[in-house]
Amino acid sequence: MQFKNEFLEIKKSKPFYKIDDKTYMIFQDKTAVNFNSCNCYLIKNDNKTVVIDPGCSRNNLIQTLKEIKVEIKDVKSIILTHSHSDHYVLVNYLKEKAQSEVYIHHSDSELLEDTSKYFDSLFDRSFIKSRPKFKELYQILEYFSNQEKYEVSETNFYLNPAIKSVFDTWNIYSIKADHEFKDNNTLPGNLKVIHLPGHTAGHCGLLHPDHSIIFSADIDFNKRGPVVSSKYANINNYKKSINKLIRIVRNHKIKHLFPGHWNPIFSNLETSLKQFYREFEIRQEKILEILAQKEKMTVDEITAETYKEFIKNFVDLIDDTTKDSLLVAEAAELMTNRNYLTELERLKLVKQVFLKNQEYWKLA
Ligand SMILES: [Zn+2]
Repeated sequence: MQFKNEFLEIKKSKPFYKIDDKTYMIFQDKTAVNFNSCNCYLIKNDNKTVVIDPGCSRNNLIQTLKEIKVEIKDVKSIILTHSHSDHYVLVNYLKEKAQSEVYIHHSDSELLEDTSKYFDSLFDRSFIKSRPKFKELYQILEYFSNQEKYEVSETNFYLNPAIKSVFDTWNIYSIKADHEFKDNNTLPGNLKVIHLPGHTAGHCGLLHPDHSIIFSADIDFNKRGPVVSSKYANINNYKKSINKLIRIVRNHKIKHLFPGHWNPIFSNLETSLKQFYREFEIRQEKILEILAQKEKMTVDEITAETYKEFIKNFVDLIDDTTKDSLLVAEAAELMTNRNYLTELERLKLVKQVFLKNQEYWKLA
């Protein structure tokens, strides 16, 4: 408890937490790009400082660098745990100020560079297209997929303000990585790559050089469970990655986990990881329960049920910005359920049937 209490105290008053003499955590904060931000980590390394996931606000970064006496021009390397835009908010800024070089796993580098592919990964366009409810969402995905630059303010067609506010926060742009890495590679700052696919294909954690902590990226102990809404999320791989992390934590006697969102895990690491894994099973059970009530259901019908649950859990997190954006959340929920059905099919618990060209799911 000692670490956790101390951490929570510091989080109230400072933009960063000192992990050890050369390692710092800059807190995720709402002002980065509205709510779209993540925890950022710094490894001080003479004049070759390394930053992991610069998704905090510019102010927090500048203030932290000043306090720990690092000049921005010395931030030479940026390691991205995966290609999602909340993790690269300040990449362009750092490239401009320090000519920092970007590192990412080879399986995620294309998604980082190709914004059209990125938009398609968020909301599989062919999947959204056939659903009239998401007409505006489809329209904006189509529009941005064909643009060089992504500026919501420049759209020349009417855009539902609710959807506009969501897209405004995403801050998606194309980044060409300077270096691609793979599992087990050693990166600047002596960080070792732990490939943890599932959230995306190239999602990675990083082992700190003193082997006492792991930066676990989006294996983040999110109360709503693992985020698996994207087209390239894979639940089976995600489960294997959590189990891999459990083995590493055990074998290396890892003391703490520092995730890309929310707070660090300072104790009972294995229990926290197992609880997070359990979230998959809870939702699988929920979907099976829903399917048991009818002979067959579409993914949309299943989503209507799980979405009710989602809103209930989400209600304390909804503020003025997020409230209007629920249509986008509903589309994400639909994508999530589709990925769950794929996983349940792999487990031979459900099967897909077609009736008059319509796709249905039923218990196997
Ligand atoms: Zn992510």
